Amino acid sequence: MRNVRVGVVATAAVLLVVCAGCGGETGPAQPNAVVQPPAPPPVPPPAPPPLPAPESVHANELGDVPVLMYHRITATPNSVYDRTPEDFRAELERLAADDYVPVTATEYATARVDIPAGKHPVVLTFDDGSINQFTLDGASELVAGTGVGILLDVAAAHPDFRPVATCYVNDPPFEEPTGRRTLAWLHEHGFEIGNHTLDHANLGRTSDAEVRHQIAGMQRFITDAVPGVQVRSIALPLGVHPKNERLAADGSADGGDYHHDSVMLVGSNPAPSPWSAAFDPANVPRIRSQGPTGQDAQYGSAAWLDKLAADPGRRYTSDGDPNRISAPADRKTAPSAAVGPLLYEY
Ligand SMILES: [Zn+2]
Repeated sequence: MRNVRVGVVATAAVLLVVCAGCGGETGPAQPNAVVQPPAPPPVPPPAPPPLPAPESVHANELGDVPVLMYHRITATPNSVYDRTPEDFRAELERLAADDYVPVTATEYATARVDIPAGKHPVVLTFDDGSINQFTLDGASELVAGTGVGILLDVAAAHPDFRPVATCYVNDPPFEEPTGRRTLAWLHEHGFEIGNHTLDHANLGRTSDAEVRHQIAGMQRFITDAVPGVQVRSIALPLGVHPKNERLAADGSADGGDYHHDSVMLVGSNPAPSPWSAAFDPANVPRIRSQGPTGQDAQYGSAAWLDKLAADPGRRYTSDGDPNRISAPADRKTAPSAAVGPLLYEY
Protein backbone atom coordinates (compact mmCIF):
# COMPACT_ATOMS: atom_id res chain seq x y z
CA MET A 1 0.00 0.00 0.00
CA ARG A 2 2.78 2.35 0.93
CA ASN A 3 4.65 1.63 -2.28
CA VAL A 4 1.61 2.41 -4.39
CA ARG A 5 1.19 5.82 -2.79
CA VAL A 6 4.80 6.62 -3.44
CA GLY A 7 4.33 5.65 -7.09
CA VAL A 8 1.39 8.02 -7.57
CA VAL A 9 3.23 10.90 -5.96
CA ALA A 10 6.24 10.23 -8.19
CA THR A 11 4.08 10.18 -11.33
CA ALA A 12 2.43 13.49 -10.39
CA ALA A 13 5.86 15.04 -9.80
CA VAL A 14 7.06 13.95 -13.26
CA LEU A 15 3.94 15.44 -14.87
CA LEU A 16 4.47 18.75 -13.09
CA VAL A 17 8.02 18.88 -14.42
CA VAL A 18 6.89 18.10 -17.98
CA CYS A 19 4.19 20.80 -17.87
CA ALA A 20 6.59 23.38 -16.48
CA GLY A 21 8.79 22.67 -19.46
CA CYS A 22 6.04 23.40 -21.98
CA GLY A 23 5.33 26.92 -20.80
CA GLY A 24 3.10 26.32 -17.79
CA GLU A 25 0.10 28.05 -19.41
CA THR A 26 -2.34 25.16 -18.89
CA GLY A 27 -1.64 24.44 -15.23
CA PRO A 28 -0.84 21.05 -13.70
CA ALA A 29 -2.23 17.95 -15.40
CA GLN A 30 -4.72 15.78 -13.52
CA PRO A 31 -3.25 12.39 -12.64
CA ASN A 32 -6.60 10.75 -13.40
CA ALA A 33 -6.36 11.83 -17.02
CA VAL A 34 -3.54 9.40 -17.71
CA VAL A 35 -4.69 6.35 -15.69
CA GLN A 36 -8.20 5.94 -17.25
CA PRO A 37 -8.66 2.30 -18.29
CA PRO A 38 -9.88 1.74 -21.87
CA ALA A 39 -13.69 1.79 -22.25
CA PRO A 40 -15.16 -1.72 -22.12
CA PRO A 41 -16.67 -2.98 -25.40
CA PRO A 42 -20.43 -2.24 -25.71
CA VAL A 43 -22.66 -5.00 -24.43
CA PRO A 44 -25.12 -6.15 -27.14
CA PRO A 45 -28.80 -5.98 -26.13
CA PRO A 46 -30.29 -9.31 -25.12
CA ALA A 47 -31.77 -11.30 -28.01
CA PRO A 48 -35.59 -11.35 -28.07
CA PRO A 49 -37.12 -14.68 -27.07
CA PRO A 50 -37.60 -16.98 -30.05
CA LEU A 51 -41.02 -16.89 -31.69
CA PRO A 52 -43.22 -19.97 -31.36
CA ALA A 53 -43.79 -22.04 -34.50
CA PRO A 54 -46.76 -20.54 -36.42
CA GLU A 55 -48.63 -23.86 -36.29
CA SER A 56 -48.29 -24.00 -32.50
CA VAL A 57 -50.37 -20.81 -32.17
CA HIS A 58 -52.71 -21.67 -35.09
CA ALA A 59 -51.52 -18.55 -36.92
CA ASN A 60 -53.75 -17.47 -39.77
CA GLU A 61 -52.82 -14.11 -41.18
CA LEU A 62 -55.29 -14.52 -44.06
CA GLY A 63 -58.22 -14.61 -41.61
CA ASP A 64 -60.87 -11.97 -40.91
CA VAL A 65 -60.46 -8.86 -38.77
CA PRO A 66 -63.36 -7.29 -36.86
CA VAL A 67 -63.49 -3.53 -37.43
CA LEU A 68 -65.83 -2.24 -34.72
CA MET A 69 -67.80 0.98 -35.12
CA TYR A 70 -68.75 3.12 -32.13
CA HIS A 71 -70.85 6.26 -31.98
CA ARG A 72 -71.97 7.80 -28.69
CA ILE A 73 -70.88 6.30 -25.35
CA THR A 74 -73.74 7.52 -23.21
CA ALA A 75 -75.73 6.55 -20.13
CA THR A 76 -78.89 7.50 -22.05
CA PRO A 77 -78.78 5.66 -25.39
CA ASN A 78 -81.39 6.77 -27.86
CA SER A 79 -80.49 4.66 -30.87
CA VAL A 80 -79.07 1.28 -31.74
CA TYR A 81 -75.76 3.04 -32.48
CA ASP A 82 -75.26 4.18 -28.87
CA ARG A 83 -73.53 2.16 -26.14
CA THR A 84 -73.55 2.79 -22.42
CA PRO A 85 -70.19 3.25 -20.68
CA GLU A 86 -70.79 -0.08 -18.90
CA ASP A 87 -71.49 -1.93 -22.15
CA PHE A 88 -68.48 -0.35 -23.82
CA ARG A 89 -66.19 -1.36 -20.95
CA ALA A 90 -67.61 -4.88 -20.97
CA GLU A 91 -66.97 -5.18 -24.71
CA LEU A 92 -63.35 -4.05 -24.34
CA GLU A 93 -62.87 -6.48 -21.44
CA ARG A 94 -64.25 -9.24 -23.63
CA LEU A 95 -61.91 -8.33 -26.48
CA ALA A 96 -58.93 -8.43 -24.09
CA ALA A 97 -60.05 -11.77 -22.66
CA ASP A 98 -60.46 -13.15 -26.21
CA ASP A 99 -56.83 -12.18 -27.02
CA TYR A 100 -57.61 -9.29 -29.34
CA VAL A 101 -55.13 -6.42 -29.65
CA PRO A 102 -56.28 -3.07 -31.07
CA VAL A 103 -54.56 -1.69 -34.18
CA THR A 104 -55.44 1.51 -36.01
CA ALA A 105 -57.36 1.61 -39.28
CA THR A 106 -54.21 2.51 -41.17
CA GLU A 107 -52.09 -0.15 -39.47
CA TYR A 108 -54.71 -2.65 -40.58
CA ALA A 109 -55.18 -1.29 -44.11
CA THR A 110 -51.44 -1.07 -44.78
CA ALA A 111 -50.82 -4.53 -43.30
CA ARG A 112 -48.68 -3.28 -40.43
CA VAL A 113 -50.28 -5.60 -37.89
CA ASP A 114 -47.36 -6.06 -35.49
CA ILE A 115 -48.89 -7.90 -32.54
CA PRO A 116 -47.72 -10.90 -30.47
CA ALA A 117 -48.00 -14.48 -31.70
CA GLY A 118 -51.42 -15.98 -31.07
CA LYS A 119 -53.18 -12.60 -30.76
CA HIS A 120 -55.93 -11.28 -33.06
CA PRO A 121 -56.12 -7.71 -34.40
CA VAL A 122 -59.25 -5.64 -33.84
CA VAL A 123 -59.81 -2.11 -35.15
CA LEU A 124 -61.76 0.24 -32.85
CA THR A 125 -63.34 3.20 -34.66
CA PHE A 126 -65.24 6.17 -33.22
CA ASP A 127 -67.45 8.25 -35.52
CA ASP A 128 -68.67 11.84 -35.22
CA GLY A 129 -66.28 13.19 -32.55
CA SER A 130 -68.77 13.44 -29.69
CA ILE A 131 -67.69 14.58 -26.23
CA ASN A 132 -68.83 11.35 -24.60
CA GLN A 133 -66.16 9.60 -26.68
CA PHE A 134 -63.42 11.99 -25.64
CA THR A 135 -63.11 15.26 -23.69
CA LEU A 136 -60.31 17.19 -22.00
CA ASP A 137 -60.90 19.25 -18.87
CA GLY A 138 -59.65 22.82 -18.37
CA ALA A 139 -56.20 21.51 -17.44
CA SER A 140 -56.07 19.46 -20.66
CA GLU A 141 -56.49 16.23 -18.70
CA LEU A 142 -58.53 13.38 -20.15
CA VAL A 143 -62.01 13.21 -18.61
CA ALA A 144 -62.61 9.80 -17.01
CA GLY A 145 -65.64 7.82 -18.08
CA THR A 146 -65.43 8.89 -21.73
CA GLY A 147 -64.84 6.21 -24.36
CA VAL A 148 -61.14 7.03 -24.59
CA GLY A 149 -60.91 7.13 -20.78
CA ILE A 150 -62.47 3.68 -20.51
CA LEU A 151 -60.18 2.33 -23.24
CA LEU A 152 -57.12 3.55 -21.33
CA ASP A 153 -58.46 1.98 -18.11
CA VAL A 154 -58.93 -1.41 -19.75
CA ALA A 155 -55.51 -1.24 -21.42
CA ALA A 156 -53.88 -0.44 -18.07
CA ALA A 157 -55.30 -3.66 -16.66
CA HIS A 158 -54.27 -5.75 -19.71
CA PRO A 159 -50.69 -5.00 -20.79
CA ASP A 160 -51.06 -6.54 -24.28
CA PHE A 161 -54.19 -4.50 -25.05
CA ARG A 162 -52.88 -1.43 -26.87
CA PRO A 163 -54.94 1.72 -26.17
CA VAL A 164 -55.34 2.82 -29.79
CA ALA A 165 -58.33 3.62 -31.95
CA THR A 166 -59.18 5.66 -35.03
CA CYS A 167 -61.40 8.70 -34.46
CA TYR A 168 -63.35 9.92 -37.52
CA VAL A 169 -64.20 13.55 -36.94
CA ASN A 170 -66.19 16.44 -38.38
CA ASP A 171 -65.90 20.20 -37.87
CA PRO A 172 -65.84 20.85 -34.94
CA PRO A 173 -64.38 17.73 -33.30
CA PHE A 174 -65.34 17.08 -29.68
CA GLU A 175 -67.07 20.49 -29.56
CA GLU A 176 -63.72 22.28 -29.78
CA PRO A 177 -63.86 24.99 -32.48
CA THR A 178 -60.22 24.65 -33.57
CA GLY A 179 -59.59 21.04 -32.51
CA ARG A 180 -56.10 22.08 -31.45
CA ARG A 181 -56.17 20.68 -27.91
CA THR A 182 -58.28 17.60 -28.53
CA LEU A 183 -56.81 16.40 -31.81
CA ALA A 184 -53.26 17.09 -30.64
CA TRP A 185 -53.86 15.05 -27.48
CA LEU A 186 -55.19 12.12 -29.49
CA HIS A 187 -52.31 12.22 -31.94
CA GLU A 188 -49.71 12.45 -29.16
CA HIS A 189 -51.26 9.45 -27.41
CA GLY A 190 -51.11 7.18 -30.46
CA PHE A 191 -54.69 7.55 -31.65
CA GLU A 192 -55.35 7.96 -35.37
CA ILE A 193 -57.42 10.89 -36.62
CA GLY A 194 -59.57 10.08 -39.63
CA ASN A 195 -61.76 12.14 -41.95
CA HIS A 196 -65.56 12.09 -41.61
CA THR A 197 -66.13 15.20 -43.82
CA LEU A 198 -66.62 18.79 -42.71
CA ASP A 199 -70.39 18.65 -42.21
CA HIS A 200 -71.20 14.92 -42.01
CA ALA A 201 -72.36 15.26 -45.60
CA ASN A 202 -74.34 12.59 -47.42
CA LEU A 203 -71.78 12.22 -50.21
CA GLY A 204 -74.22 10.33 -52.42
CA ARG A 205 -76.35 13.45 -52.77
CA THR A 206 -73.74 16.09 -53.53
CA SER A 207 -71.77 17.17 -56.58
CA ASP A 208 -68.23 15.98 -57.22
CA ALA A 209 -66.95 19.45 -56.35
CA GLU A 210 -68.79 19.43 -53.02
CA VAL A 211 -67.51 15.91 -52.23
CA ARG A 212 -63.96 17.10 -52.78
CA HIS A 213 -64.56 20.22 -50.70
CA GLN A 214 -66.10 18.24 -47.83
CA ILE A 215 -63.11 15.88 -47.68
CA ALA A 216 -60.22 18.23 -48.51
CA GLY A 217 -61.67 20.87 -46.18
CA MET A 218 -61.81 18.45 -43.25
CA GLN A 219 -58.29 17.29 -43.97
CA ARG A 220 -57.16 20.92 -43.89
CA PHE A 221 -58.96 21.41 -40.55
CA ILE A 222 -57.13 18.40 -39.05
CA THR A 223 -53.68 19.35 -40.39
CA ASP A 224 -54.14 22.96 -39.24
CA ALA A 225 -54.96 21.66 -35.75
CA VAL A 226 -52.07 19.16 -35.64
CA PRO A 227 -49.23 20.26 -37.90
CA GLY A 228 -47.49 17.33 -39.54
CA VAL A 229 -50.28 14.81 -39.01
CA GLN A 230 -51.28 12.69 -42.01
CA VAL A 231 -54.93 11.84 -42.62
CA ARG A 232 -54.93 8.40 -44.21
CA SER A 233 -58.41 6.99 -43.59
CA ILE A 234 -61.99 8.15 -44.13
CA ALA A 235 -65.29 6.86 -42.79
CA LEU A 236 -68.13 7.68 -45.15
CA PRO A 237 -70.95 9.53 -43.32
CA LEU A 238 -73.99 7.24 -43.19
CA GLY A 239 -71.87 4.70 -45.06
CA VAL A 240 -72.84 6.34 -48.36
CA HIS A 241 -70.35 6.43 -51.24
CA PRO A 242 -70.04 9.48 -53.46
CA LYS A 243 -71.59 8.94 -56.88
CA ASN A 244 -68.04 9.07 -58.21
CA GLU A 245 -66.72 6.42 -55.81
CA ARG A 246 -63.02 7.00 -56.31
CA LEU A 247 -63.38 10.53 -54.90
CA ALA A 248 -63.62 8.99 -51.42
CA ALA A 249 -60.02 7.79 -51.66
CA ASP A 250 -58.33 10.41 -53.81
CA GLY A 251 -58.99 14.00 -54.80
CA SER A 252 -58.08 17.61 -54.39
CA ALA A 253 -59.88 20.85 -53.58
CA ASP A 254 -59.21 24.18 -51.91
CA GLY A 255 -55.51 23.90 -52.69
CA GLY A 256 -54.97 20.52 -51.02
CA ASP A 257 -54.72 16.88 -52.16
CA TYR A 258 -55.98 13.95 -50.15
CA HIS A 259 -55.27 10.23 -50.29
CA HIS A 260 -56.79 7.57 -48.04
CA ASP A 261 -55.39 4.08 -47.56
CA SER A 262 -58.80 2.91 -46.38
CA VAL A 263 -62.44 3.89 -46.88
CA MET A 264 -64.65 2.67 -44.05
CA LEU A 265 -68.24 1.64 -44.63
CA VAL A 266 -71.09 0.82 -42.31
CA GLY A 267 -71.15 -2.94 -42.79
CA SER A 268 -72.45 -6.07 -41.20
CA ASN A 269 -69.53 -8.49 -41.22
CA PRO A 270 -65.82 -8.77 -40.36
CA ALA A 271 -63.28 -7.34 -42.80
CA PRO A 272 -60.89 -9.49 -44.83
CA SER A 273 -57.24 -9.72 -43.87
CA PRO A 274 -55.17 -7.03 -45.58
CA TRP A 275 -53.18 -9.95 -47.05
CA SER A 276 -56.30 -11.61 -48.49
CA ALA A 277 -57.18 -11.44 -52.18
CA ALA A 278 -60.62 -10.31 -50.99
CA PHE A 279 -59.25 -7.20 -49.28
CA ASP A 280 -60.67 -4.01 -50.81
CA PRO A 281 -59.33 -0.88 -49.11
CA ALA A 282 -61.99 1.26 -50.84
CA ASN A 283 -64.75 -0.74 -49.12
CA VAL A 284 -63.87 -1.86 -45.60
CA PRO A 285 -66.92 -3.25 -43.79
CA ARG A 286 -67.40 -2.31 -40.17
CA ILE A 287 -69.45 -4.04 -37.48
CA ARG A 288 -71.72 -1.94 -35.33
CA SER A 289 -71.01 -2.32 -31.63
CA GLN A 290 -74.16 -3.86 -30.20
CA GLY A 291 -75.30 -6.25 -27.49
CA PRO A 292 -76.72 -9.71 -28.18
CA THR A 293 -80.32 -8.54 -28.52
CA GLY A 294 -82.23 -5.80 -30.32
CA GLN A 295 -82.69 -4.62 -33.88
CA ASP A 296 -80.46 -6.54 -36.34
CA ALA A 297 -78.43 -7.89 -33.41
CA GLN A 298 -77.25 -10.79 -35.59
CA TYR A 299 -75.03 -8.29 -37.43
CA GLY A 300 -73.77 -6.59 -34.27
CA SER A 301 -70.50 -7.02 -32.41
CA ALA A 302 -71.69 -9.39 -29.66
CA ALA A 303 -73.02 -11.83 -32.26
CA TRP A 304 -69.91 -11.57 -34.45
CA LEU A 305 -67.45 -11.99 -31.58
CA ASP A 306 -69.38 -15.13 -30.59
CA LYS A 307 -69.20 -16.45 -34.17
CA LEU A 308 -65.49 -15.75 -34.49
CA ALA A 309 -64.79 -17.42 -31.13
CA ALA A 310 -66.75 -20.49 -32.27
CA ASP A 311 -64.89 -20.64 -35.61
CA PRO A 312 -61.30 -19.71 -34.68
CA GLY A 313 -59.94 -20.77 -38.09
CA ARG A 314 -61.82 -17.87 -39.63
CA ARG A 315 -60.07 -15.23 -37.54
CA TYR A 316 -56.81 -13.46 -38.21
CA THR A 317 -54.29 -14.87 -35.74
CA SER A 318 -50.78 -13.41 -35.70
CA ASP A 319 -47.59 -15.47 -35.95
CA GLY A 320 -45.73 -12.67 -34.15
CA ASP A 321 -43.42 -11.97 -37.11
CA PRO A 322 -44.49 -9.00 -39.23
CA ASN A 323 -42.20 -10.18 -42.06
CA ARG A 324 -43.82 -13.59 -42.51
CA ILE A 325 -47.43 -14.31 -43.48
CA SER A 326 -48.51 -17.59 -41.90
CA ALA A 327 -51.65 -19.50 -42.78
CA PRO A 328 -52.84 -23.10 -42.66
CA ALA A 329 -52.88 -24.95 -45.98
CA ASP A 330 -56.60 -25.72 -45.56
CA ARG A 331 -57.58 -22.05 -45.14
CA LYS A 332 -60.66 -20.72 -46.93
CA THR A 333 -59.13 -17.49 -48.25
CA ALA A 334 -56.64 -16.89 -51.07
CA PRO A 335 -53.63 -14.64 -50.50
CA SER A 336 -53.22 -11.41 -52.40
CA ALA A 337 -50.41 -11.06 -54.92
CA ALA A 338 -48.52 -8.93 -52.38
CA VAL A 339 -47.97 -11.95 -50.11
CA GLY A 340 -45.71 -13.76 -52.61
CA PRO A 341 -42.68 -15.38 -50.97
CA LEU A 342 -43.66 -14.09 -47.51
CA LEU A 343 -46.25 -16.88 -47.26
CA TYR A 344 -45.55 -19.66 -44.76
CA GLU A 345 -48.05 -22.53 -45.16
CA TYR A 346 -48.42 -25.35 -42.70
ZN1 LIG B 1 -71.12 9.67 -38.69
